[in-house]
Amino acid sequence: MKQGFLDWLDAQQGRQYELHERHLNPAFVKMLRTIGFDKSYIRGQGEWLFDSDGHRYLDLLTGWGMFALGRNHPRVRVILEEVLSRDMPNLVRMDCSLLAGLVAEKLTRHASTHSGAKLSRVFFCNSGTESVEGAIKFARCCTRKSRILFCDHAFHGLTMGSLALNGSDFFRDRFGDPMPNTAKIPFNDLAALEQALHGKDVAAFVVEPVQGKTCEVAADGYLAEASRLCRKAGALLVADEVQCGLGRTGKWFAFQHWPGVEPDIVCVAKALSGGYVPVGAVITSPRIMDSVFDSMEHCVVHSNTFGQNDLAMASALATLQVMEEDRLPANAARLGEHAIARLTEMGRSCPFVFEVRGKGMMFGIDFRRPESSLKLKAAWDALHLLNEGVFSQTVIVPLMHEHRILAQVAGYHTELIKFLPPLNIGDEALEYFLTAMEQVLGGLQRVPGSAWETVRTLARGAAQQLTR
Ligand code: PLP
Repeated sequence: MKQGFLDWLDAQQGRQYELHERHLNPAFVKMLRTIGFDKSYIRGQGEWLFDSDGHRYLDLLTGWGMFALGRNHPRVRVILEEVLSRDMPNLVRMDCSLLAGLVAEKLTRHASTHSGAKLSRVFFCNSGTESVEGAIKFARCCTRKSRILFCDHAFHGLTMGSLALNGSDFFRDRFGDPMPNTAKIPFNDLAALEQALHGKDVAAFVVEPVQGKTCEVAADGYLAEASRLCRKAGALLVADEVQCGLGRTGKWFAFQHWPGVEPDIVCVAKALSGGYVPVGAVITSPRIMDSVFDSMEHCVVHSNTFGQNDLAMASALATLQVMEEDRLPANAARLGEHAIARLTEMGRSCPFVFEVRGKGMMFGIDFRRPESSLKLKAAWDALHLLNEGVFSQTVIVPLMHEHRILAQVAGYHTELIKFLPPLNIGDEALEYFLTAMEQVLGGLQRVPGSAWETVRTLARGAAQQLTR
């Protein structure tokens, strides 16, 4: 009998790092090997990953936030299997997909709840960055202006348009001239926004209600006033909810935490995939959509080949269904509040912790040079002399090596580590994480100690964990 695909795949196990070194990205492999993250994962289930040695890992990185339902959610999988078994027509392109219509109906219903925003139209794409590119084009087309405002520390994706809105030069350096006519303003600074809007030449202000790179949350009243200022200046407010949207912060959309916020465009992606199929969406109003698709001649003037494909739409529909049935936004609010409170409490007895911040299941710990202990100050300084951005590894590395918990450094050269747990993480798993965190923060205060030793070795090799 001919060998089945999965048997064949199993027989290849163990070749991944060698293959990636040879054919994909050797620098990435080097980084993983340096920090000892070069595992062979063979299975994922909910919040857990399993490797070929039989070890179990708690995944709080969740594929940069896409596994909001955990991995391989059974109810999403069943729907995908049913769709696959049906020989659907898929992407005829000269028809209208029922599945896409149904996803749009659900998305717009949730986006318009508790908000005056008239968000009844959707454009589907295949990633977060593509949804931001769409938002930029829609805003420019609708307003006939071209300037785009974005925030310091923002992250909106890495294609040329969204890259121009990146709050850090690190991602832009070496890639040539970015999209012109953009301006960076500080986050949570209404005076700066008002001033930037003064010339009335702005097409859009693109902002993350909770910033992915910093876990900074929009201040109360900030987005509502930003809405008003944008409207007054004839600019659009774009809420980039690629990371913070779809239940993660405890509401369907993060902008819904505050009254009076009326984004003209909302970008989503990541979680909408159900952890299975790439998908993104630009949610907007009829006025904006109709300005782009204003005639039969222009009806596909912004379009893509894979958008609305059946598997992506079925994943999205199943995901929204699971989120509704299991009330995952409310669950994220409850669990996130508990986790942030516990971490804040732990932080009080760790001199390295500056702040624990975030909203719902999107939170981070910001570290700083300790003010009290001379010994801890000296340890901090010595490490920073060796390598400016490596301190976060004193937490990330022991979390992985001693507790098998996967987490991430939030940004390039920052002292912030971030957690994006699944919205349906079990109470026991969350408790396991919090206990581990307590031990890791305790270990940080033992100088000399194993956490410092390991990271000093890494620092000498100039290792940074990949940040996104
Ligand atoms: N916008 C935000 C807020 C993000 O966090 C990201 C990705 O991390 C993106 C856009 C880009 O999404 P993608 O990586 O799917 O292109």
